[in-house]
Amino acid sequence: MNITRANSLAPKRGPSDYFTGTVWLEEVTSAPYASDVRVVVATFEPGARTAWHTHPHGQLLQIVSGAGRVQKAGEGMVTVLPGDVIWFEPGERHWHGAAPDRRMAHLAVQRADEAGKTATWQEQVSDVDYAGSPPSGTV
Ligand code: MN
Repeated sequence: MNITRANSLAPKRGPSDYFTGTVWLEEVTSAPYASDVRVVVATFEPGARTAWHTHPHGQLLQIVSGAGRVQKAGEGMVTVLPGDVIWFEPGERHWHGAAPDRRMAHLAVQRADEAGKTATWQEQVSDVDYAGSPPSGTV
């Protein structure tokens, strides 16, 4: 048995190349785990979100607190709430983040590829994509 105490899991700021706004990443599966499974708790400040990206082996999210937004390329933005579980297929282009006026924390589970990579990062999510499409019927 090995217990890693909470105060040694110092959250790291998500790099600005891959995130818009302030995001805190807490790596749950740091050493001494000998596995390609990676578990991260990510906390997004209001309006913060990932850039567009894909995962080589897919990704599972569970919303832990707050209110969030997710989008798969080619589909509309979707609001997600605590307890919701989201699965992104391998190679599926997407983003995830907080609502504009709420924080959001999620658990993220993904597998690293042979090179140790868990994601391929693309461009930032525009404010237009982040806002989502207006409800149909509005002008
Ligand atoms: Mn993702």
